[in-house]
Amino acid sequence: MLVKLFGKSLEELKNIALELGLPAYAGKQLAEWIYRKGIAGFDGMTNLSKKARALLASRYELGLHEPLDVQESADGTKKYLFQGTPGKFIETAYIPEGERGTVCVSSQVGCKMGCLFCMTGKQGFQGNLSAGEILNQYRSIPEWKQLTNIVYMGMGEPLDNLHEVLKSLEILTSPWGFALSPRRITVSTIGITPAMLEFLNKSEVHLAVSLHSPFEEERRKLIPVQQVYPFREVLDEIRSWDFGRQRRVSFEYILFKGYNDTPAHVNELSRILQGIRCRINLIRFHPIPDTLLESPDEAAMQQFRDRINAKGITTTIRASRGQDIQAACGLLSTKKLLQNG
Ligand code: SF4
Repeated sequence: MLVKLFGKSLEELKNIALELGLPAYAGKQLAEWIYRKGIAGFDGMTNLSKKARALLASRYELGLHEPLDVQESADGTKKYLFQGTPGKFIETAYIPEGERGTVCVSSQVGCKMGCLFCMTGKQGFQGNLSAGEILNQYRSIPEWKQLTNIVYMGMGEPLDNLHEVLKSLEILTSPWGFALSPRRITVSTIGITPAMLEFLNKSEVHLAVSLHSPFEEERRKLIPVQQVYPFREVLDEIRSWDFGRQRRVSFEYILFKGYNDTPAHVNELSRILQGIRCRINLIRFHPIPDTLLESPDEAAMQQFRDRINAKGITTTIRASRGQDIQAACGLLSTKKLLQNG
């Protein structure tokens, strides 16, 4: 079986070059061709000899994969489905917004965390994605050259697949890789404290933490991992971390009608976030099958936003995109699994 080159680090590519009897600098040339120059096959690697290219092709493949399927929303949002290892499907969303183009990548197939409101959580855990599988979602959508932002907010908990996520971030931001600014990338987590500290140490990209309630017991019902990694611990670590001027921390807050949208929640949120330079993104809940949770109406969401803003925390409502294509993570791949099952 041919080994995939896409998703390999510079160190790994240098070793491959040496194994093939090429000089180590050929590893850097390979990295440049694969990532920044974005070639689709070995033939395009014109600064490698014909012999070297033939040798490469005998043992390796580039390892890029086109999406299997795409659904497009009336608002331009697209949801791509990629084939993972057999029987596993990876979802990726592309979200155009004026000058911006954002890709939302998955880091796992399914998820172990079992959050109450999440379709991916209901699928259970099926596997981690490799750095190559994560990056392929960025590189293999037709819009990849127009992308301005990458968010790790698709299927899975990125910090539960820390090694591959960090490797993918290294490839995205290194000069020998895609050379993207870390300021264009955000990783979202439900707050796994030890992994979050390692992530903060080893990368420079933005952090988004899913909060969804400022009350412990209530949050535990929504996000069971609260029991193991209480948000107070997560917030203490964030409070003591030096994010510098450029790196951003934000909190994600899905609003559930009559559950986490009261004035008491506003007061408690502003209390627990004291001393943290951050913003809050309010997210509209898109109902999933078999849940009693509902979204408040637009006026109630705006009122909640205004109340937190009045407390001095910048808060915005994230625009709902792709509702008509069921952009809620996990729905598309669950359907595909059912079809194939
Ligand atoms: S919300 Fe995120 S962490 Fe929770 S089950 Fe869904 S994918 Fe996993």
